[in-house]
Amino acid sequence: MYINIIMSNKGNCLVVERNSNILKMVKLRNEIESLQKKNDDIDKILWKECIHDWVLDQSCASDDLCKKKCTKCCLYYCKYLYT
Ligand SMILES: [Zn+2]
Repeated sequence: MYINIIMSNKGNCLVVERNSNILKMVKLRNEIESLQKKNDDIDKILWKECIHDWVLDQSCASDDLCKKKCTKCCLYYCKYLYT
């Protein structure tokens, strides 16, 4: 009986901790999504405003669609990514 009570309390604590972790994960995912949206908006502005200096990106594979990167804003030469 005593062991069952201890296990039950421990089980309840674990469930509470797990639920708390789930809430924290949801909050962090929402924050990440918000930051990604802000960066997407920044990229759109940079695409329009930067006086780009395009150079070939040596790290690109031969079949990559976007092979040029701006030395100033670090965007790729791919309009569809930022419009
Ligand atoms: Zn640029």
